[in-house]
Amino acid sequence: MAAPTTAVTKTGTSGALRGAAQLIFRSVPFPTEPGLRVFGTPDHSSPVFVTCNFDHTVRQVSQVLERMGLDCYLLVAPTGGVNVWCASAGGHFGVDEVEAAIKLSGIDKLVDHHRLVLPRLAAPGVDPKEVRSRTGWRVVFGPIEIDDLPAWLDESFPRLVADVVEFPVRRRVEMGVGAGLWPAGLLGIPGALVAGWKAGLLILGLSYLLSVLFALAYPRLPLAPGLPQALPLGGLLGAGGAAGAWAAADGLFATVFWGVSLALMGVLIGLDFPSWSPTDVCKQQLLCFLYPATLAPPGFLPVVDEDTCIAGCDICVKVCPKGALSLKDDNQMATLLAPDDCLSCFACVQQCPVDAIG
Ligand code: SF4
Ligand code: SF4
Repeated sequence: MAAPTTAVTKTGTSGALRGAAQLIFRSVPFPTEPGLRVFGTPDHSSPVFVTCNFDHTVRQVSQVLERMGLDCYLLVAPTGGVNVWCASAGGHFGVDEVEAAIKLSGIDKLVDHHRLVLPRLAAPGVDPKEVRSRTGWRVVFGPIEIDDLPAWLDESFPRLVADVVEFPVRRRVEMGVGAGLWPAGLLGIPGALVAGWKAGLLILGLSYLLSVLFALAYPRLPLAPGLPQALPLGGLLGAGGAAGAWAAADGLFATVFWGVSLALMGVLIGLDFPSWSPTDVCKQQLLCFLYPATLAPPGFLPVVDEDTCIAGCDICVKVCPKGALSLKDDNQMATLLAPDDCLSCFACVQQCPVDAIG
């Protein structure tokens, strides 16, 4: 075993307060120091993982690596404190950042295999061909969820396997809490100024409660994300708020105040929440102003050039986080089988080895 010869940053356990702050202020970048983390007692053949420098992600990845007892290295790339998918789709986790992580860490001197394992959701931003030509390192993509890493290492490493994003209840509750910050802040503060601190606090509580309830119901909502969901929700909540204040005989001011406040709350939640969903996030790029996805133009749908596509190669099919691409039965060329599912994430374009998708 060769001891690391470069300065390393040991992984520490974070406090509950930091975790809670990152849950509540999830839409705000939380950078952690880029560079090298060492797990166990790695040697020259140990795996090298790469992730973003969003503190929450680094802590999650570190916990899994520690739990696995794996001897390995983790390179934390300088992605501006933004999570893997938003950073890669938005142009903040690409070849430059991977190259910087390699150089910052001195990992060249620590291993002799020159193979990086990247999170699957970095595929929209990281072009493996360019990483190889600029650094000499080969990129392989692991699973979408870090919790699936042990099984992937056991069964598939270093192969790319098909994997799709999901939005389980635990994640929806987390995102609902994060998304609650916007209506709480945008409506709670003016509400407190106009109608007093009790009204502000009530708006704050309702914002988080309704945001989490909306997150729980989200996959079952019959209407399309965005305005089709936001307008009826705003109408229902506004009518409910006005009716409640009127029934409580709170007077005309309270009736108008609660009607308007809850209508705006419904519209805000309905408009904003889809950008928190991994099943719709890139489609909502125009609303996602903090992490705008800039690589793909709005509404982008991939088109496969069959003169260039390699028959039977299924890299784009496997890398698509929505399973929207497939190989045609007749000629084994890739095609967009489910355009409605496409997120315009750009991963298939970036990962095609012969640039056959535009
Ligand atoms: S088909 Fe759409 S969702 Fe799938 S990888 Fe390509 S751009 Fe992304
Ligand atoms: S990745 Fe490129 S070459 Fe491979 S199947 Fe898709 S379009 Fe064809």
